[in-house]
Amino acid sequence: MEPTAYLESLRPAGSKRSSKRDLIVNVFLRQEGHLTADDLFDLIRREDQRISRATVYRTLQWMVDAGIARKVDFDEGRFRFEHSYRHPRHFHLICKTCNRSFEFLSSDIEALIEEVAAARNFTARQSVLQIHGTCEPCRTGRPAAAEQGATDALFARDALRIAIATERSGLDFYTRAARLTRDARGRRVFEKLAGEEKEHLATLERRYRELLLPDPQLESQPTFLFFKGAANGLFSAGAEQLAAGVNDRQALMIGIRCERGSHKFFKRYGEKFEDSEGKRIFLEFADEERAHLDLLIREYRGLVERQRRRAGRQAPARKRRREAAAL
Ligand SMILES: [Zn+2]
Ligand SMILES: [Zn+2]
Repeated sequence: MEPTAYLESLRPAGSKRSSKRDLIVNVFLRQEGHLTADDLFDLIRREDQRISRATVYRTLQWMVDAGIARKVDFDEGRFRFEHSYRHPRHFHLICKTCNRSFEFLSSDIEALIEEVAAARNFTARQSVLQIHGTCEPCRTGRPAAAEQGATDALFARDALRIAIATERSGLDFYTRAARLTRDARGRRVFEKLAGEEKEHLATLERRYRELLLPDPQLESQPTFLFFKGAANGLFSAGAEQLAAGVNDRQALMIGIRCERGSHKFFKRYGEKFEDSEGKRIFLEFADEERAHLDLLIREYRGLVERQRRRAGRQAPARKRRREAAAL
């Protein structure tokens, strides 16, 4: 959704267009980073001298209530405001020398917060993590390599990187599983999944290149999204388990565990993010993993059934042998 359409959708039906408010909102949405109310007022005054400070303050509060802006407190004795529209919830590094702030996201921290809250029966509404200190340019005197760009693009870049890493380890896992599975049908399923991972991988890599095309600088910007215990870790662990020597059923079961973990991870975090390209990448990826999971579960049930029938046919033969031996 474009910002204007988004604003239209927020406006109560029949309410009059407020051109002052629209101007303030549009100026705000054009900025990156964290503005104080006075920063915004100065920007507005450059465009329209007639807008009062009180109107700017009121509109900021309206934006917070409407979910367009988020209020952040960097412990400077005044609030700052940042977008929440197409801007994922994130954590901050704050330089106490130049007062600049840098954003990052971490699923590991989110998972830890959830774990702590759940263990203490606490319903978490909001969590704020700030790391105060000195940024690299202030510490070394060297200018920053690049200003942090739009987090929407950074988020999409890192979401694609994570999806690509997961596909790569998934491909490795299925290729190995196909090699060691003895059951012909089970092997074909693993080969099919390896083929799909390869295809998805190519699609994701194309999308990654397309994202960088208009902004080659994007590639070298610092990491925005930190994932240590990410879904690709699951598949690497799964591949290790395969190497330890497993039977067909165990191989399928390991695949099921990896896909389920991966699906849950991408869905859970995808749903957390506000509307953005990164969110879409996560949710699309979650759907693909879900399809793989369903296929593996079907195959696992089929294999168990085939093995049961085979055992059933063998039972009478064993019984005959036992009876023959007893003679
Ligand atoms: Zn600094
Ligand atoms: Zn921020």
